[in-house]
Amino acid sequence: MYIGRFAPTPSGPLHFGSIITALASYLDAKQNNGQWKVRIDDIDSPRIVEGAESLILKNLESLGLFWDDKISRQSENIQEYKNILEMLKGKNLTYNCNCSRKQIALSNQSDLNEPIYNNHCRGMQHPLSNKSAIRLIADYKSMQFIDRTQGPQSTDINNSAGDFIIKRSDQLYAYQLAVVIDDQLQSVTNIVRGTDLLSSTIKQYYINNLLNFPEKTYMHIPIATINNRKLSKGNGDKVNNNNFSLVLIEGLKFLKQKIEKNIEDASPREILKYAVKNWDTIPLQQIKDIELNPNQRVIADNAHT
Ligand code: GLU
Ligand code: ZN
Repeated sequence: MYIGRFAPTPSGPLHFGSIITALASYLDAKQNNGQWKVRIDDIDSPRIVEGAESLILKNLESLGLFWDDKISRQSENIQEYKNILEMLKGKNLTYNCNCSRKQIALSNQSDLNEPIYNNHCRGMQHPLSNKSAIRLIADYKSMQFIDRTQGPQSTDINNSAGDFIIKRSDQLYAYQLAVVIDDQLQSVTNIVRGTDLLSSTIKQYYINNLLNFPEKTYMHIPIATINNRKLSKGNGDKVNNNNFSLVLIEGLKFLKQKIEKNIEDASPREILKYAVKNWDTIPLQQIKDIELNPNQRVIADNAHT
């Protein structure tokens, strides 16, 4: 059984980019007669905005994107993160790290956005303080998975991010650890999301294997940009149009789906029914991002600044 999901962080209302992720994950799940679940990624408290969750859910409903099962929230899974962290600690797969961002940046050998950690604190046995981060020993040589649209993805320890953080120095569980556990708790089989998360997928793939969870299938779809900037809820980007059919049609155009003229004025329900039937992921292969066209810019408010 295919189980897909959409996992927004409630850091603001949905923007056009996140609607595209919601739409693609929905269409893929429904075309495969699967379930489409919604999870609220609410543990990164510095990014959470009050009221955003209910705006996001209302938005999904207006677009006709109704979810299966009850909504789940990361905040319900904290005990599970804790148990798994203790288990990894018990197997000596973690260590405490007090390196500052500055130290990590200075030791960085890579020209990628994300610095590569040089495993400086591994073996140092730093005592745990309430300012230390906890890293997972990531001793993988070469790992590979096939992304459905982006093709084979591989890395080895020399071009991965080194030992990575699973509990942050502000004592919050890191996204990389949480997402693997969350997906497993929801029995997710297929992950469809934006290419901005492609580079961290190998870490999640590694954790998923380490925990002996069943393998997930990944598909990373292009992200929407304006002036080469990715849209973001935290930046105040939002959808400013209440014509939900139009928003769906522009989303489908962004996803390079074929659209027949007579469907353009249909209700969201009918548009989705048509789109599920005709969902085609081939045109999305190997595309990492797409600049919005003028119509789409009008829908994505604030994004033209
Ligand atoms: N909560 C993450 C975000 O809003 C997405 C997590 C995921 O899809 O793995 O960017
Ligand atoms: Zn360190």
